[in-house]
Amino acid sequence: MKTHAQVCVIGGGVVGCSVLYHLTKLGWSDVVLLERSELTSGSTWHAAGGFHTLNGDTNMAALQGYTIKLYRELEALTGMSCGLHHVGGVTLADTSERMDMLKAERAKHRYMGLETEILSPAEIREVAPVTNIEGVLGGLYDPLDGHLDPAGTTHAYAKAARLNGAKIELHTMVEQTTPRSDGSWEVVTDKGVLIAEHVVNAGGLWAREVGAMAGVYLPLHPMEHQYVVTDDIAQIYERDTEHPHVMDPGGESYLRQEGRGLCIGFYEQACRPWAVDGTPWDFGHELLPDNLDKISESIAFAYQRFPVLETAGVKTIIHGPFTFAPDGNPLVGPVPGLRNYWSACGVMAGFSQGGGVGLTLAQWMVEGEPDRDVFAMDVARFGSWTNPGYTLPKVIENYQKRFSVSYPNEELPAARPFRTTPVYDIQQSLGAVFGQQFGLEVANYFASEDEPRYETPSFRRSNAFAATAREVKAVREQVGINEVQNFSKFLVTGSGARAWLDRIMAGRIPDAGRVSLAPMLSPKGRLIGDFTISCLGEEEFQLTSSYGYQSVHERWLRRHLEAGIDIENISDRRTGFQIAGPMARNVLAEVTRADVSAESFLFMDVKRMTVGMCDCIVQRLSYTGDLGYEIYTDAMDQRSLWDTLFAAGQKHGMRPFGMRAMMSLRLDKFFGSWLSEFSPDYTPAETGMDRFVAFNKGADFIGRSAVEAERQSGAARKLVMFEVDADDADAVGYEPVWIDGEVKGFCTSGGYSHTAQKSIALALVDGASLSDDLEAKIEILGDMRPAKRIHQMLFDADGARMRG
Ligand SMILES: Cc1cc2nc3c(=O)[nH]c(=O)nc-3n(C[C@H](O)[C@H](O)[C@H](O)COP(=O)(O)OP(=O)(O)OC[C@H]3O[C@@H](n4cnc5c(N)ncnc54)[C@H](O)[C@@H]3O)c2cc1C
Repeated sequence: MKTHAQVCVIGGGVVGCSVLYHLTKLGWSDVVLLERSELTSGSTWHAAGGFHTLNGDTNMAALQGYTIKLYRELEALTGMSCGLHHVGGVTLADTSERMDMLKAERAKHRYMGLETEILSPAEIREVAPVTNIEGVLGGLYDPLDGHLDPAGTTHAYAKAARLNGAKIELHTMVEQTTPRSDGSWEVVTDKGVLIAEHVVNAGGLWAREVGAMAGVYLPLHPMEHQYVVTDDIAQIYERDTEHPHVMDPGGESYLRQEGRGLCIGFYEQACRPWAVDGTPWDFGHELLPDNLDKISESIAFAYQRFPVLETAGVKTIIHGPFTFAPDGNPLVGPVPGLRNYWSACGVMAGFSQGGGVGLTLAQWMVEGEPDRDVFAMDVARFGSWTNPGYTLPKVIENYQKRFSVSYPNEELPAARPFRTTPVYDIQQSLGAVFGQQFGLEVANYFASEDEPRYETPSFRRSNAFAATAREVKAVREQVGINEVQNFSKFLVTGSGARAWLDRIMAGRIPDAGRVSLAPMLSPKGRLIGDFTISCLGEEEFQLTSSYGYQSVHERWLRRHLEAGIDIENISDRRTGFQIAGPMARNVLAEVTRADVSAESFLFMDVKRMTVGMCDCIVQRLSYTGDLGYEIYTDAMDQRSLWDTLFAAGQKHGMRPFGMRAMMSLRLDKFFGSWLSEFSPDYTPAETGMDRFVAFNKGADFIGRSAVEAERQSGAARKLVMFEVDADDADAVGYEPVWIDGEVKGFCTSGGYSHTAQKSIALALVDGASLSDDLEAKIEILGDMRPAKRIHQMLFDADGARMRG
């Protein structure tokens, strides 16, 4: 066995082999894969081998598209067969909501270059004749859907990697992984010890156990899953061509041809988690006992949808386990808190996603960053607060909702409420309807007594519309109060803090008592953060950004940490409220003896002051774009701060407002939002963030050369604003922008401005297609909506209120 390698990949399933191949493809050949048994000895060998591009996350869908297109390349490289059947597939819609979802997906595919198509029921009957179209409203056809031979494909990845120099050691069980002081790892196996500069956990069914060997908990859990293969069916084997796949979300099933019969699998509601207390090491090439009772309801439904099944005999039943993360997407990337330890697990659809996961991880390891925003599968999207108690109910929920419609405003109920702030019950008593961010309950809006305490999931304007309008009005006309818990907060201290931040952030670092907005860039000049930096003292800075992204940011900041600098993640320790609206100053003035007059507390100032009984850090800015203050205090004091502010606010008409109102208010000012307008997919010049890049500062900040080059060449696309002639649905993100009959851009986000009473879309559009008075069409749920470019902010265009 090798004793030293640049990379040790643990696990020879489809994912480990894909990672191994992609590392060699990008130029690292001193790489070894350790497999305790034969290749495919986990979930991989018994997979149904189906693949498809459909995924609610656009970047995941793109990576699935990459995976599918890769198979031909693998075959050409290795001369091996992946057993490809590119038969196409249709996803059925039997409700108007699902039809809306399929239309939204189709619209996204236009600029992704995917040739999907909406089919009528009659067309479905023609394409997939075993389908009973009763109750079916339509479907989405994807010519890329198909299936393959799982073992053949895994071995093709392995051969392609070996051809590029990789080594694969079979029957080599990893028993321990121990970090070494130089950042490398000691990998102890039953065949000896290997020193590896990097370790990749691709342990699949055993990824939890492999993670524990490095002292980390990876939030994933195996679920049992079953599919049935039928005997020969005349309607199938008499066809000239292979029958396409049919996904029937209403029946929670997927169906495809298998030889001369059919194969159908189910995501049943009566699902069962597997190996709750750990995956046995002696599990391998066996299956779980058949359990048709569990899927009896699904089978009954399938007999109606696909009547040929009722008379077909059963040839085989495959029942095996595979793993899910709490949201069903993979766990990929550098594991927070560890050096040179990488995750490639939780991949529930290895044959749709394995190629994309391998490519992403290899780019991250070899090139330092993936070439797109991969937050949807970043292992750091879950924090250190996850544990088996949280993961298990979320994984069950995910399995059960695998085929459910996913709505842009949907808040899933499992494992909630979990993490709450001290004012949770106060908010609840005021009618709060909560959402969840990074495990935390966050008020989305406040329902009145006669409104339901539940937001209807919808692609259209929801029942939160009226409440949101009330909250926006309160902010714009009087004053609103909203929790600032859902910002991440980092404290950066030390004598070198300013100089260090100057290199980490592309923006200007503020003087003491001032606040600045600063983009953080990757070496390739992509946006990896948009921070508010507050200088609390020459050696003390508070950084605030996205709460949900805090682990990703913390991982990056710690990776670049230098001696003499201290970073603390105080996101949950320092909390408070923002108050915003024309009466905000009056409220603040009543609860502090500090001078908060317009002349002495300027826009973008930060001050320490006592508010009521609480020691606070108060900064004058607000994402609502109104006169506003963010007031931070210790979490222990948050209730007292609430009591003080809310009592003082009553005579000024103070109302609580939630995230729905916040997202409407920011549209009035065209303020971008993290992971919508600003994300690693985009650059400062594309999104207008270049105005916050301090090109004239001396520091050689990360991403400087890339962003300077872009400044010279100009951005190929630009973020612009549209007023949309919408009906009852607004743009939410990724809707195509049509100009002169062609797709020339896509929406990054949108919504309804309750202030201006207009539907607004923010969109990235090709520079060559832009004109000042541009008229376009935005495709919302299949309708072409006229859209007019606008330049003037919808509220406080001259900033008089915000800065006054
Ligand atoms: C019934 C069923 C049907 C499915 N159908 C589909 C489908 O149609 N399409 C699709 O895309 N996906 C399907 N899947 C899911 C698919 O099987 C998985 O997504 C995929 O196999 C995951 O691969 P993996 O490499 O991550 O994990 P695994 O296949 O579990 O591989 C992990 C490997 O790591 C090795 N290993 C673990 N620990 C150690 C150690 N300590 N030392 C050395 N080696 C170790 C194991 O022996 C194993 O070989 C299905 C799953 C099931 C159960």
